[in-house]
Amino acid sequence: MDLRFSPELETFRSDVQAFLSEALDDELRRGAAYNGGMFQDYETNIRWHRILAAKGWVAPAWPERFGGPGWSVEQRYIFSAECAAAGAPALAPMGLGMCGPVLMGHGTEEQQATFLPRILSGEDYWCQGYSEPGSGSDLAALALDARRDGDHYVLNGSKIWTTHAHHANWMFALVRTDRSGKPQTGITFLLIPMDTPGLRVDPIIFVSGEHEVNAVFFDDVRVPVTHRVGAENDGWTVAKYLLEFERGGGNAGPGLEAAAQRLHRLAADHGVALPHGTLASLEVTIEAVKTLEFRILSALGQGQNPGPESSMLKALAGQARQQLSELTITLLGPPALGGGAAPAPRGATPEVAAASATAAARYFNYRALSIAGGTDEVQRDIIAKRVLGL
Ligand SMILES: Cc1cc2nc3c(=O)[nH]c(=O)nc-3n(C[C@H](O)[C@H](O)[C@H](O)COP(=O)(O)OP(=O)(O)OC[C@H]3O[C@@H](n4cnc5c(N)ncnc54)[C@H](O)[C@@H]3O)c2cc1C
Repeated sequence: MDLRFSPELETFRSDVQAFLSEALDDELRRGAAYNGGMFQDYETNIRWHRILAAKGWVAPAWPERFGGPGWSVEQRYIFSAECAAAGAPALAPMGLGMCGPVLMGHGTEEQQATFLPRILSGEDYWCQGYSEPGSGSDLAALALDARRDGDHYVLNGSKIWTTHAHHANWMFALVRTDRSGKPQTGITFLLIPMDTPGLRVDPIIFVSGEHEVNAVFFDDVRVPVTHRVGAENDGWTVAKYLLEFERGGGNAGPGLEAAAQRLHRLAADHGVALPHGTLASLEVTIEAVKTLEFRILSALGQGQNPGPESSMLKALAGQARQQLSELTITLLGPPALGGGAAPAPRGATPEVAAASATAAARYFNYRALSIAGGTDEVQRDIIAKRVLGL
């Protein structure tokens, strides 16, 4: 078996490298390198989004008829590998990776024509309204009340942990439209403008000081019925479809490989040898992530959706990031946890300086990787049932 890329794909790689070296200015590189949060900060993310949109490369996974570049699975992999190697900012997944695929799979033609171009251009910025104070892992218990009133739904209740709700102009949300049967059969999927009267966003500040997530309150918020995706009370079907993309639609492997290489350079700069056993376990996890991603990409390339393997990928990729952040702290020592930026060694390269400055924030924030998007325990339940058939 020949696992090398064809000459045509290597030419494609050179084109991507040439584009990245020109398009990624110092501000964007710095924004990515100094990002200590779970998500890329909004300003850096949206600037990079618009540059990629202008080039037609912002949604590598989208079909051409919806504005994707028409790339093969291999081209998509090469693109994300080169972006990771070049230190490009990460793009927010809520529009491109979640709401977009849902609209393609379950939206009306009118919804697709209205919303997909605005996700591509960056005109609309989305947040995800799934979790509530009483329903996270047990998502079907969600209670945000949506009462039908003519051609509107009237919403009362709240959502929590809503990433970037303070930047978003739209939310896709699951709401409760029926309480008579099984919890799953009374849920509806709605698209909600964030400037609707009665909707309020309150910040939740992380222990590291970052503001990424929020609580969102609904007080008689009126949403037109035309903003419903799928049938009333069939939101659970839409929700499950989206969760597979949330957990497995991206390309984590190249980013992890690039981060592992940075860790090795950081260790060399500090003259520190990292524990071999831990490094070996990290390498194995990253290899497993890459293999799973190839499997999922191949399924996507054949028009299928990611499947339950996305739960394996979500858990493993999160664990790898956590391991990387722990190793960085081990390497930098206690000063890294001393409240803020660790001192960079004298004459440190910009890369080492950025790693030192973000080590503590990443260490604390990446704890959330085994919670956000579904906890590791819940992913293991899914793997046990749907992959192992237990
Ligand atoms: C940084 C961050 C960003 C987030 N962004 C968003 C967002 O944008 N939109 C959104 O809707 N949500 C978001 N979330 C919420 C996230 O999806 C939930 O936190 C997650 O699903 C867990 O739910 P919970 O917090 O209610 O914990 P709980 O469900 O109360 O879980 C508590 C503990 O019990 C365990 N547990 C629960 N059920 C089981 C089970 N069946 N088997 C084994 N163990 C179980 C869990 O693993 C966990 O350890 C975000 C969360 C974080 C931390």
